[in-house]
Amino acid sequence: MIPALEALSRLREGNLRFVSDEEEPSMLTSQAARHQLTYGQEPFAIIFGCSDSRVPVEIVFDQGLGDLFVIRVAGNVVARSQIGSVEFAAHQFGTRLVVVLGHSKCGAVTATLEELERPERSRSPNLRSIVDRIRPAVEDLRGTDLRDDPGALLEHAVRANIRASANQLRHGSQILEELIAKDGLLVVGAEYSLETGHVDFFDGVPAGAS
Ligand SMILES: [Zn+2]
Repeated sequence: MIPALEALSRLREGNLRFVSDEEEPSMLTSQAARHQLTYGQEPFAIIFGCSDSRVPVEIVFDQGLGDLFVIRVAGNVVARSQIGSVEFAAHQFGTRLVVVLGHSKCGAVTATLEELERPERSRSPNLRSIVDRIRPAVEDLRGTDLRDDPGALLEHAVRANIRASANQLRHGSQILEELIAKDGLLVVGAEYSLETGHVDFFDGVPAGAS
């Protein structure tokens, strides 16, 4: 089992390689690795990210086959099936780091802010279920000075949504709560910058690990 903080360092190092265009020629996607992995997997991190095509998780962390257990859904919103996926990986593979990975200029968060401004009646119920999960995390921000600065409002809303999802994973499941309390599971929130490629782990990282 790879401890959470070691997993976090691996992700940071991989993201640095990605940002500096120094990705390792991936032996991790080789045929040999593929064969090896038919016998089992031990992903060192669970990444719960947004579906946005510009944030492909293995690429931005420079990781290969078998390294990451990835769940992606628009707006990185937490529903029961996602909590179940995290429980599965944490339990089955002993993975001890969970990263909620949002990103700048997230379309789902933007759509939620627009919805708060002008409710959209024609939205499909399925799409609405995404917006409804983001809304509680961001609606209070509109009561602040950010209201007058759409760019800053979106930046804060993206981070608020990441924090909310991380908290839902920390407290939305008895199994995960117990793994956190007794077994070294760590849930952190991070934001990927579309502009720089850099991932900022800003939520839930223990002091001294940054
Ligand atoms: Zn997004």
